[in-house]
Amino acid sequence: MSDYKKPIPVPSLESQPYWDGLREHKLLMPRCDACGHYWFPPSLLCRHCSSAKWSWTATSGRGRIFSYVVYHRVYHPGFADEVPYAVAVIELEEGPRMISNVIGIAPDKLVCDMKVEIAYHAISPTVTLPKFKPVAG
Ligand SMILES: [Zn+2]
Repeated sequence: MSDYKKPIPVPSLESQPYWDGLREHKLLMPRCDACGHYWFPPSLLCRHCSSAKWSWTATSGRGRIFSYVVYHRVYHPGFADEVPYAVAVIELEEGPRMISNVIGIAPDKLVCDMKVEIAYHAISPTVTLPKFKPVAG
């Protein structure tokens, strides 16, 4: 962990529960208590019905590749050893979309709609990153 050379996310007051969940290997998303809608990133009001009553709720951690790009150029020296790598928009089974990496597969083998599940990567004592890996089916 100590030789981690990439930028490390800094949790905000608003996102702290998300990061706490990842550290405990749970992918939490805001879910509206009124209408049941999930969304991400977090915001004060439900994006569907504007209710202020919502709860951090565990998701399945499963979804599909909605879209992706493959980075061949090094934009930050911390990524120099990893090009080419994939940055994907993952659509979770519960609906929210999030940006992540897809690991465990060569970037040229990726296709949209590929089923994926979360893989937790601890990079510091306080930050665990959500990455995704392909699943069968
Ligand atoms: Zn709602």
